[in-house]
Amino acid sequence: METNQSYEALNQEIADLKEQLDEAHDIIDAIRKGEVDAFVVKAEDKHELYTLKSADKTYRIFIERMIEGAVTLNTHNEILYCNSSFAEFIQVGLENIIGTPFMNFIPDKYQATVEQLIKTAWKKNESKGEIILHRNEKELPLVLSMNTIEIDFESALSIIITDLSLQKETQEQKKAMEQKDEFISIASHELKTPVTSIKGYVQLLRSNFQEEKNYLAVELLTKADTQLNKLANLINDLLDVKKMENGQLQYHEDVFDFNDLVKEIVDETGRIMPKHPIEVDFDTTCNIYGDRNKIGQVITNLIDNAGKYSPANTSIAVKSTLNEGIIKLSVKDKGMGIPEDQQGKIFERFFRVNRNNGNTYAGLGLGLYICSEIIRRHHGTINVESEAGDGSEFYFELPVHP
Ligand code: ADP
Repeated sequence: METNQSYEALNQEIADLKEQLDEAHDIIDAIRKGEVDAFVVKAEDKHELYTLKSADKTYRIFIERMIEGAVTLNTHNEILYCNSSFAEFIQVGLENIIGTPFMNFIPDKYQATVEQLIKTAWKKNESKGEIILHRNEKELPLVLSMNTIEIDFESALSIIITDLSLQKETQEQKKAMEQKDEFISIASHELKTPVTSIKGYVQLLRSNFQEEKNYLAVELLTKADTQLNKLANLINDLLDVKKMENGQLQYHEDVFDFNDLVKEIVDETGRIMPKHPIEVDFDTTCNIYGDRNKIGQVITNLIDNAGKYSPANTSIAVKSTLNEGIIKLSVKDKGMGIPEDQQGKIFERFFRVNRNNGNTYAGLGLGLYICSEIIRRHHGTINVESEAGDGSEFYFELPVHP
């Protein structure tokens, strides 16, 4: 009796398995024929939906989010699929693109080029070329890379469209920078000699007039000499930048007392900027090993800028702090400050802050670049803390000489 029961149970099990197998065959058949694109699977405590398309979902999302345009054409060169970047390039809604001939979106000027690209791609499986679209009165250079692919046993053409504007802009900026560099290099060399000789003549004339007691002439020539000094400093900045770029700037290094140097510079700049009282606050001094003149140039530049970019009769605070083998010098003003989004670029060559009211301050945007190079050469760091309209604090840190 027991044997009979187990025999029946086994028969039933076989019948169940057969049914399941038939079901599985039906599913596979339906999948093969494309009749199924999702099925529900019973998990432990819930039903889960699996789509056959979930396998390539990752790729679809990836293509949809690409900044490159992606288009697939059928053998009649009609658009089977495109992503939103392509729709944005041609400025047409996605709903008006699918099913339309690709050539409808190509400007007349490039019709022949693109037709040839498509022909080549169909024949040789790939092709590549450039076209320019006009968008919002701006040129949009695009590169089209075409490849043939097989979808469901049918041939299709995939086109990836890359926006070259950024690349072209960077190339143009680089070229403009090189031309600027070349011009500056020639101009500064040519200017240096005449400025030096004019300065010599002015000084000679001034001492002659001094002997003749012609004080008006002496006063005017002193003013001319001050202006010539400014010009000479500008030319030196330009020549320094060139040398820094080529690693040829000479540094004369020695040990010097840091606070002594700062006091010297504060006295000098204080005389030139009577409208900006300088408040000093010095910590214990220390020795620094480096080029005293060049570190002095950095301090002068920071104090000059503090005066230049703040209203008259506002004070400048110069403070040194010594902490664990590092000396910090900070120059704080109550001026116009620097907008946060531009602070990261402030130490770049030729960078000048873009102000709403236009930039009415003379300068080349080289001072801070030179400062940062000098400080970097001395194994230090330079930085700024500022808020637009609320003053700036520039500071640098240098390692102390043991
Ligand atoms: P320049 O003063 O010749 O333009 P710099 O390299 O010294 O060149 O400075 C770069 C830019 O940084 C300046 O154009 C100015 O807008 C901004 N800047 C520098 N120092 C200050 C400051 N203390 N306060 C506000 N802006 C400053």
